[in-house]
Amino acid sequence: MTAGSQVQDDRTGSIYVAPSLSAALDALADYGPAGAPFAGGTWIMRSPIRHEPLRPHYVAIGKIPELSAIRIGKDAIEIGAAVTHAALAAALAGLPEFAVLAAAAGSSANPAVRALATIGGNLSALDFYAADCMPALLCLDAAVEIASRDASERMSLADFLKRRSTFQPGRLLTRIIVPRTERKTAHARLPLRKSGDYPVAIVSLSVNVDTASHVQAVRIAIGSVEQTPRRWGRLEAALLGAVLDPARVADIAAELAAEFTGRDSVEVPAWYRVSVLPSLVRRAAATALAN
Ligand SMILES: Cc1cc2nc3c(=O)[nH]c(=O)nc-3n(C[C@H](O)[C@H](O)[C@H](O)COP(=O)(O)OP(=O)(O)OC[C@H]3O[C@@H](n4cnc5c(N)ncnc54)[C@H](O)[C@@H]3O)c2cc1C
Repeated sequence: MTAGSQVQDDRTGSIYVAPSLSAALDALADYGPAGAPFAGGTWIMRSPIRHEPLRPHYVAIGKIPELSAIRIGKDAIEIGAAVTHAALAAALAGLPEFAVLAAAAGSSANPAVRALATIGGNLSALDFYAADCMPALLCLDAAVEIASRDASERMSLADFLKRRSTFQPGRLLTRIIVPRTERKTAHARLPLRKSGDYPVAIVSLSVNVDTASHVQAVRIAIGSVEQTPRRWGRLEAALLGAVLDPARVADIAAELAAEFTGRDSVEVPAWYRVSVLPSLVRRAAATALAN
């Protein structure tokens, strides 16, 4: 293992603070199934509450320069996996095409959690069904890079979602790549009571409209309703070519919403997650038009 600081923690075993990406990948490969990345730690710290065992070893990735960088290029933005929600929201302020992602990162959880929780952790926490950045990045057609000691692979976020539970130990999400294009975007979420709660349902919208507000292209992603976030293809198809009228969009969403099977939980019954979708879609459309 390359030099870096090793901290012994009575509850978690060891935490190795990796000084570089190669050191982190080496450590993860050496630990195998006994190790895992440690980013903001906001999901890991709640493992005991979820009755999940902690790993004997963690590899902290927060001090690796390239994982904490955001590069805003002409054709795409690249976001290091260890960028915090707060840093991401601040970096994207003033870029309307990324309003959906700035809102997702800037409205999730609460300020203390946003200062620690990373975008890579948000996408990698298995069994976390209410990740705000997930639908936002799905509607932006994002790709991710996954690295191991021996290789690096780029895949669409949709493929990552299908494959992430099958990755062998030693894999690290390193970067998120989001193409740049002219579009209007918005993120609408319904927390149970107020800020700080996990959202009941999330609608992320990206739309291109012509000068008469006719929809030229649209991507709508739904989060927190089912276990896995996904695009709402039938709603997208129904909106193409028509004027983006928030009330009409909500009516169509109400007609199509039965295709979702809401997830049950102690906080919210399954049917409620589905029933709020039309109003969230309406809000997302209105916000996108105003952005
Ligand atoms: C009170 C509270 C409220 C919250 N509310 C919301 C909310 O409304 N919306 C929302 O989206 N989030 C919310 N969160 C945050 C969310 O629950 C996760 O905690 C967070 O997104 C995970 O990021 P992290 O950097 O802390 O990850 P960690 O806790 O460090 O890691 C999470 C998991 O991902 C793995 N991992 C981390 N980084 C990588 C990587 N780069 N590559 C591969 N695997 C990796 C870890 O090994 C671990 O299994 C909330 C958290 C709290 C505590």
